[in-house]
Amino acid sequence: PGYSYRWRRVLLKVSGEALSGDGTQNIDPKVTMAIAREVAAITRLGVEVAIVVGGGNFFRGASWVGASGLDRASADQIGMMATVMNAIFLQASMESIGVPTRVQTAFRMNEVAEPYIRRRAIRHLEKGRVVIFGAGTGNPFFTTDTAAALRAAEIGAEVVLKATNVDGVYDCDPRKNKDATLLKHVSYREVAIKGLSVMDITAITLCQENCIPVVVFNLSKAGNISKALSGERIGTLIDV
Ligand code: UDP
Repeated sequence: PGYSYRWRRVLLKVSGEALSGDGTQNIDPKVTMAIAREVAAITRLGVEVAIVVGGGNFFRGASWVGASGLDRASADQIGMMATVMNAIFLQASMESIGVPTRVQTAFRMNEVAEPYIRRRAIRHLEKGRVVIFGAGTGNPFFTTDTAAALRAAEIGAEVVLKATNVDGVYDCDPRKNKDATLLKHVSYREVAIKGLSVMDITAITLCQENCIPVVVFNLSKAGNISKALSGERIGTLIDV
C-alpha cells in the first residue's frame, strides 16, 4: 500500500453500466470524453492501452432468456453486438481528440471494424494506438470480464484495470449494509471462496492462472482513470 506501479501495457475494462453514467441515455458522452482524455494523457507518457468494453447499458443476454422464447446463444449474440456499439462510440470519442484508435471485433464485422488479430493488435499498441476490443470473446455464455482477462493474457498486458461504478471490492454489499468496508487488497482465492461479486469466476480464474493482477476502481470519480492507468494504488487490488 502506498507505492505505485509503472505499467507498460494495460488492459482497461469499461463496463456498459459505467458508460451510461448518470444520464438517461445508454451512453453518456461526458463519460466517454473523460475516458478519452485520460487515456490520451497516459498514452502520451508511453503506456500502451487496450480496452475491452461491456454492453450491459444496451443489452445483457442472460436477462432476456425466456422472454419471447429467446435462447441464451441468440441473446448473447445480441449482447456482443451491443459491445460493438460502445466500442465504435468510444473510438469516435478518442479520435475526436486526436488519439489514434483501432477497434477489433471478436467476430467479423468487416465494414465496421478490423477482425481481432492478436499480432496486429500488439503492433497497433506498439505504435501508440489505443486498441478497443469489441464483441467480447465472440462466444455466447461468456462475459466481457472474461474477454478482458483473455485479451490481457493474449497481448501480454501486465494488469486488468476494471472500471466500475463502485469504489472497489467491499466485504459485503455496500448498498445493503452501511458498515461495508472497502478492501484494499483481496486474493483471487478470496474472491472465489467468498463469492465476492466483482468479476465472474471464469474471468478471475483466467487472471489467476496467468498471474495478471486486477485493479477494481470507480470510473465516475474524475481523475481515477488516470490514476489507475498510471499505477497509483486506488480501489481494490486483486492478486495472490
Ligand atoms: N457476451 C457474450 N460473450 C462474451 C461477452 C459478452 O455472449 O464473450 C454478451 C452477453 O450476453 C453479455 C453481453 O454480451 O450479457 C454484454 O456483456 P457484459 O454483460 O459482460 O457487459 P458489462 O456488464 O461489462 O456491461
